[in-house]
This record gives sequence, C-alpha cells and structure tokens, in this order.
Amino acid sequence: MSAAHQLDERARALFRKAFGYPPGAVAVAPGRINIVGEHTDYNQGFVLPAAIDRHVGVALRLRKDGRVVLHSDRYSMPVEVADLPSRRQGNWADYVFGVADVLRLHTSGSPGFEAAIVSDVPVGAGLSSSGALEVAVAVSLLAARGEAMPPLQIAKLCQAAENVFVGARTGIMDPFIALRARGGNAILLDCRSLEDQYVPLPDGRFVWLLADTRIRHELASSAYNQRRKECEAAANALGLASLRDAKESDLERIENPVDRRRVRHVITEDARVLQAADALRRRSPKGLGPILYASHESLRLDFAVSCRELDCLVELAAGMPQVIGARMMGGGFGGCVLVLLDAAGLDDLEQHLAEGYAEEFHRSPEFYRVRSVDGVMSERTR
Ligand code: ADP
Ligand code: MG
Repeated sequence: MSAAHQLDERARALFRKAFGYPPGAVAVAPGRINIVGEHTDYNQGFVLPAAIDRHVGVALRLRKDGRVVLHSDRYSMPVEVADLPSRRQGNWADYVFGVADVLRLHTSGSPGFEAAIVSDVPVGAGLSSSGALEVAVAVSLLAARGEAMPPLQIAKLCQAAENVFVGARTGIMDPFIALRARGGNAILLDCRSLEDQYVPLPDGRFVWLLADTRIRHELASSAYNQRRKECEAAANALGLASLRDAKESDLERIENPVDRRRVRHVITEDARVLQAADALRRRSPKGLGPILYASHESLRLDFAVSCRELDCLVELAAGMPQVIGARMMGGGFGGCVLVLLDAAGLDDLEQHLAEGYAEEFHRSPEFYRVRSVDGVMSERTR
C-alpha cells in the first residue's frame, strides 16, 4: 500500500473512532523537500521543490451549523468551537480554521465541519507539515462540498490563510508543491510569474536523505523576518521591485558589506536553482553536487542563517564517497540537512552522521529517507 493510502486509511479510522460514523470526504497531501532555492521565494525568485512520501491526511464531514470539531493524532486534546472563528486562536487548529475561514468566502453553505487529522510529516522540521495540512484541509472541504477550484487558486488561499490568519509570512511554494507535485519530478517554480515546469529527478540509484539536527534555535523566526526586511531594503536602495531583478553588477553599488552579502546570496541562489534544473534535465545527478554545496556555503557565509549543527552534518556528509552533495534546507538555525547520495551507501552514511554528530553535540540526529510522490489525492466518500 502506498504511503498516501496508509494515511488515507488512518484518517478514516480516526474519524470513525472520534465521531462514530464515516467521513464525507478525505484528502491526503504530501510534505516536501526543496532541492535548492532558499530565501529566494519572497524575493520573487526560483525554487525547486519535490513532494515526499510523508503526508497529512484529513477526513472530514460537513455540519449543518457553524460548529467545528477537530481531532489530531499529534495533539491529545480535541479542539471544539461553536462557530468557525474569523481570527487566530493561538493553537494548532489555527491552520485549519484559517483555511476554512478563507474558503468560506468562496463557497456556499454553513461553514461548520468535523475533521480527523493524521500525519507522518514531522512538525517544525522544515518539511512543510503546515503546507500539507492546509492543502489537505482545503481539498477535503472542497471535495465534501462537491466544488472544484483550480490548484493555483487553492495554493493562494492556503498561503493567505497562513499569512493573514496564522500570521506567518510564508511563500506559496509549500501549498503549491503539495497540490501540483508529480512522482519522479521536482517542480521549477518561478515565484514571480507562478509558472511551473516539471523537472525529472534522478533515478532510483540515487536517494534523498534528510538528517534532522533536532535543533530549533529561537533565532529562526526573528532572523527570518530580519532577512526579509534586509532584502526589501536592499531592493529599494537599488531601485528594484525585488531582488529577483538584481544582477552581479549591482553588487558594487551596495556600500554596506553585510547588505552586499545578503544580495549576493539571492542572486547566486537564483542562478543555482536554474543550474540545478538544467543538471536534472541533462540527467546529470552528479552535476547537483557542487550546486548543493555552494548553496550551503552561500547560506552560511553570505546569508548567515546556518548554525554549527547544520554545518557539522554537511561537513560529515561531504567526507563520504557515496555522497553527491548536501546542504541545509529551510529557513535556517536548525531543521534538516538534505543529502543526495548513491543509494548503496545509505546505511553507512546514516551511521557516520549519527556517530560524528553525537561526538560533537551529544545527541543523535533523526533520519528521514524520502522518495518523491504525487501531490494531493482526495475522495468524496458519499
Ligand atoms: P513545518 O516546517 O512543519 O511546516 P510550521 O511551523 O510551518 O512547520 O508548521 C507547524 C504547525 O502546523 C504546527 O505547529 C501545527 O499548528 C500545524 N500542524 C502540522 N501538522 C499537524 C497535525 N498533524 N495536526 C495538527 N496540526 C498540525
Ligand atoms: Mg510550514
């Protein structure tokens, strides 16, 4: 049984257990990796995500009133409200409320529902558990209502829910890939035009491994907001709408050396995304190696969002012959390192990383071996 089907069955089972009858619709949406393109999305640049075989499943039944009852296998306490709230409550259910609230403007009928949420996407590790949850909620609500909506519109609604309702300034990549992914492919997404292209991933001789530092530094969200501001200010100073339009030749116009490094990261990272897509199209997985390492160095030195734990895992990986390339993935200051390697060397690599990391930090990383999968699946069950 596929990873998505397992989550589908688990969602149905949790729904039955919680409510005593079957759901009206089920949707299962994947988490994702991003091969390269970090801190480029909000600069209107390029990203290269692929969906992975870790999912959030939502089983749901519409109600005739506004009441919302939510069960999640991640959180022991169910959440119940007499009316779908139109502003943030400050708990995990906000992602669900947010999507339902944004969607209510686009659909008819009463806004209440009952839902059971199950997941094997680690929360807060940078694999987009929130994007998978938003998409699964949006798609199951639409399926239950028997309504269709173009994927791009759903992605924008999910992003709006996260930006406006939850209050996290995130880009469109996470919901987009959860909706549009195709197994065996990454998506080259232009975050300005929202044009996307499928790009074939390396075949089964190569695998993606995520090594989770299991560190979540406090700095992460404040630094993220600060980098966004720095990028906006730098674009303004250069007279550009966004750093997407910045060129290498603009760098000498930036006096402050810190600003110059930030801008250089965005320019070079955008170029690396296009190079990586090229390498994949040429069926040259090994061509990705230098790109991944260069991305890490740029994030470490120019953008200054890495940390010792991430650097340690990348260095350990780089020393192993089966490894093609590695880099930190996500906003930074913790989370996961993404490694591309020869499948035959997987067990050895995990052991090497676990030992080296424990020696340095007296804790073990967590590993996720991931495969690429299709985007969201849904079914109306009555
Ligand atoms: P990530 O990198 O995993 O997307 P975020 O901080 O963006 O991290 O999103 C994590 C949030 O998403 C959680 O705090 C919670 O509110 C919500 N979430 C994720 N998975 C689940 C789940 N299975 N059940 C309920 N809420 C979830
Ligand atoms: Mg998220």
